[in-house]
Amino acid sequence: MDIKNVTVIGAGTMGNGIAHVFAQYGFSVTLNDIKQDFIDRGLKTISSNLDRQVKKAIITEQQKQETLSRICSTTSLEESVKVADIVVEAATEDQSIKKQIFKTIDAASPQRSLLASNTSSISITELAASTKRPGNVIGMHFMNPVPLMKLVEIIRGLATTDETLHAVTALAQRLEKVPIEVHDYPGFISNRILLPMINEAIYCVMEGVATPEAIDTVMKLGMNHPMGPLALADFIGLDVCLSIMKVLHEGLGDAKYRPCPLLKKMVAAGHLGRKTGRGFYEYKP
Ligand code: NAD
Repeated sequence: MDIKNVTVIGAGTMGNGIAHVFAQYGFSVTLNDIKQDFIDRGLKTISSNLDRQVKKAIITEQQKQETLSRICSTTSLEESVKVADIVVEAATEDQSIKKQIFKTIDAASPQRSLLASNTSSISITELAASTKRPGNVIGMHFMNPVPLMKLVEIIRGLATTDETLHAVTALAQRLEKVPIEVHDYPGFISNRILLPMINEAIYCVMEGVATPEAIDTVMKLGMNHPMGPLALADFIGLDVCLSIMKVLHEGLGDAKYRPCPLLKKMVAAGHLGRKTGRGFYEYKP
């Protein structure tokens, strides 16, 4: 399948990174979000991340301009998918929002289009069931920050066809990413293993085992992790961490996945990590 036109739904942390990478590798990208402000913020982030790549001599100023010129945007979901060869949905991690998006894009996009989700944990099989083309639906789970991270988990729903799987695997390779095939279980591989570790680190803070700095230092210096689990939680967003833990808890039905009460409390207080300037650490704007 010849993929040229890519639509990215959601211009937040992941959506703008995904749009950036597709445009950098020559695809025509349409970026969609519910408000023009959110799109503008996403485009600004793409531009400053491209500036960083220019400074590091990864790309030239001309390549930056060409990349930006390949991205157009609209707040109309239906309009955004009209000529899409593939849609990559990267909207808020909420099953009802995503199901509604899949229903809408299924009706508005060409019948042959592939429909991918960047969800961290929601069932691809269930998202596929809200469409009339479950064979074309697949998970394309990029890692944050998208321009830097090599891995893409390719999640195969129950109905995903071999053709869709091969097309999306080849697409990830065209972006110079490393695709890894995973079957559709809550949290896939990455978050099934990562999030319980982060949740446990939050229990350690709640129980007063040690300070966030001490916990992160143990994991960095003792386990050779490039980033401590609490700094990583702030980076991912505590709201995203909480929704993934809920999906693991509900989907696997085991009490060991229950979200830590401190995580719930911090999300309720709006302390979501870097994006709100406060999580386990404080961040200057
Ligand atoms: P985010 O909150 O930064 O961005 C989400 C964006 O989606 C927002 O701009 C929001 O306005 C938009 N949105 C909400 N409803 C929409 C709709 N109906 N139509 C169009 N846009 C809509 O969230 P994020 O961190 O970018 O996460 C997006 C997805 O990527 C989630 O599924 C998340 O689980 C997944 N993910 C996140 C990370 C991470 O580290 N943050 C990593 C991998 C995957």
